[in-house]
Amino acid sequence: MDLTAAQRDRACGSLLATAAGDALGAGYEFDPPCGPGTPIGMIGGGLGPFKPGEWTDDTSMAIAIAEVAATGADLRSEAALDRIVTRWLDWSHGAKDVGVQTRAVLSEAGRQGISSRTARQVSAAHHERTGRTAGNGSLMRTAPVALAYLDDEAGLVEAARSISELTHFDPDAGDACVLWCTAIRRAVLTGELDVRVGLEHLDEPRRQTWAERLDAAEAAQPSAFSSNNGWVVAALQGAWSAIATTPVPDDGPAKGVFRADHLRLALEAAVRGGGDTDTVAAIAGGLLGAVYGASAVPAQWRLLLQGWPGLRTRGLIQLVDRIIDKDAPAPFDYTYDGYPEARQVVAHPHDDKVWIGGVAALHHLPTGVDAVVSLCRVADGDIPPGTTQLDVRLIDREGRQSENPNLDFVLLDTVRAIEVLRAEGRTVFVHCVQAYSRTPTIAALYGARRQGIAIDDALADVRAVLRDAFPNGDFQEALRRLASG
Ligand SMILES: [Mg+2]
Repeated sequence: MDLTAAQRDRACGSLLATAAGDALGAGYEFDPPCGPGTPIGMIGGGLGPFKPGEWTDDTSMAIAIAEVAATGADLRSEAALDRIVTRWLDWSHGAKDVGVQTRAVLSEAGRQGISSRTARQVSAAHHERTGRTAGNGSLMRTAPVALAYLDDEAGLVEAARSISELTHFDPDAGDACVLWCTAIRRAVLTGELDVRVGLEHLDEPRRQTWAERLDAAEAAQPSAFSSNNGWVVAALQGAWSAIATTPVPDDGPAKGVFRADHLRLALEAAVRGGGDTDTVAAIAGGLLGAVYGASAVPAQWRLLLQGWPGLRTRGLIQLVDRIIDKDAPAPFDYTYDGYPEARQVVAHPHDDKVWIGGVAALHHLPTGVDAVVSLCRVADGDIPPGTTQLDVRLIDREGRQSENPNLDFVLLDTVRAIEVLRAEGRTVFVHCVQAYSRTPTIAALYGARRQGIAIDDALADVRAVLRDAFPNGDFQEALRRLASG
């Protein structure tokens, strides 16, 4: 499916913010609710114990679905469903945390010979025996299903329910996955936040019941649902409450406040709600990321994210790109031989522990550089081993502002990330392809904040050391908006 740059950013955001919410909530799992001012961070710990930034079962199970979707398979096929449950079983053997219901189904289905058929049978039998299979474990992993059916809403509805039923037979679990996936799909395609778009796919009277549940979520704080948010209904209500009751900030670049901050603020609110914090925030993240995009996920979080099966932020983005492209990504030329400026690397005029330059300098970095901020696409093999590396999504095409939907946020967020790296004593290399537009933009904002000087002076200082540097007009306007405070 052909997506615009903004749609692709939102698709990537859905999985990335699932992981971010999960890792954010991991350190607070089963804590009681806490007050609105309580700081929330990617502290790690929790049931794993998990490393700071490490995601848990929610994202790991979503990744298993994403891996199968990335092959271009139709997730409704028995073959694809077989691969999903097999991958879940593989994961569960080494997992630090597996939900009660999921473990019960996977281990019994594994004894019978793992397949979608045995998983479904065990899940159904479990439901008949206990009447309790509406845990939140299928909703928490559902975001990639939406990404696999951006071009087919009816197919999405079928796939969401059948993947849910592999472990969670109760119709409430299937309904929740249908509602959330159709909302994610709508958000990726349009940028709109509408949690009710999927109600039409539910049968009466379930449609009415869910409409009332969504109304109730909007009328209460997330903590109102935390006493039983292991139940899929309360988990969805808690996630939706966090999104719907957290105010969306007005853009105020001079004050460093952005509409895109809603993603972070709502995820923090989801975690403060207490209870099954990682799962509620993972669910919320799937929809928030689809609304605001991967570019709205703070750099501090992107730097920390990690988890099964050995992925970090970059791996999650690559996975979503493969889902969208049905495992046939458009070829991208990572060789920059035609640009002599790509080899340049110079010290930042205001900080000699920040180096700025072009992409080819990745292969001859100054001594001591241990962090890299990439403002252009970089091949895996070009990332210097042993460095901390941050990918920043910044598209350098003047007059195409829709391609950088969170431009002001991204510029300031990136500079703040460099400031944090420097405060940690790191030596940072900031680069794009040839240090012509993106690198001087970031370098100027960094210099202006560090020196307390006017943005035009900071930019002039940067241009004096970088050959031919000239930020495009959109970037220059964004710098002036950000610096006017
Ligand atoms: Mg979890």
